[in-house]
Amino acid sequence: MSENSSFFSQICVAQCGGRCCDPWWGIISYTVVRKNIFAGLNDFNAELLKGIDERAKRIIEGYKTSETPPRPLFSLPERYNISITDIKMSGRGATVNILAMFAFRCLFLSQDKTCAIHPGSMNDVDMRPPHCGFMGSLNAKPGEKGYCRIIHAAQAASDSSEAIKRAIDMEGEASGKYYREGFSTAEEASEAIINSLKEYQRRNTPKPMSFDKTSVPGRNDPCYCGSSKKYKKCHGQ
Ligand code: SF4
Ligand code: SF4
Repeated sequence: MSENSSFFSQICVAQCGGRCCDPWWGIISYTVVRKNIFAGLNDFNAELLKGIDERAKRIIEGYKTSETPPRPLFSLPERYNISITDIKMSGRGATVNILAMFAFRCLFLSQDKTCAIHPGSMNDVDMRPPHCGFMGSLNAKPGEKGYCRIIHAAQAASDSSEAIKRAIDMEGEASGKYYREGFSTAEEASEAIINSLKEYQRRNTPKPMSFDKTSVPGRNDPCYCGSSKKYKKCHGQ
């Protein structure tokens, strides 16, 4: 067996069904700082769409096989899942933190969930793309290439078959949720962001004070506006 076969684990594919690549999620967080964000939501929509397109293309550009010439792993994203993680208002404008997740279908993942290029050694040339899932390297630590939560959970637990099942369910649920909540087009994803901003604006705009004409205060009564002045010295002037 070649050294590369260690990247296959008995857990991968046979039990897990290749969740690391099906779909493969590209995750990007970025910040937009803008003056008057609410006054120019149409402009912001165009800016968002441009940003989504550029970022998705950057991922497609970055994930290729190591062959010469390289082949790309992805074409267009299959799902766009974009959300606002935080909005900060300041005197100068708004800072909007965005989390963008793009689901790609790897062109090398076959129908039976096996990877067409793993182990990907041909004439001693490693064809594996530098950044892809690597299908569960048993020795990888969190944050390293090939680290998989399913395999890690199985290694850490005494009853590994139960741990594998639980971890697979958790991964499946999380990625299924992102998938369901995502959109098929960048336009829909952008619209969802704009709607979140409108909702934020609606919730944070003080309601105009209602004034009931049937209960006009007397001239010496406290003013209805809460200024603690007499009505005649305040709104009654
Ligand atoms: S090349 Fe193989 S391991 Fe990498 S993302 Fe594609 S199917 Fe997964
Ligand atoms: S690396 Fe992890 S997620 Fe990918 S196929 Fe193996 S067990 Fe599943």
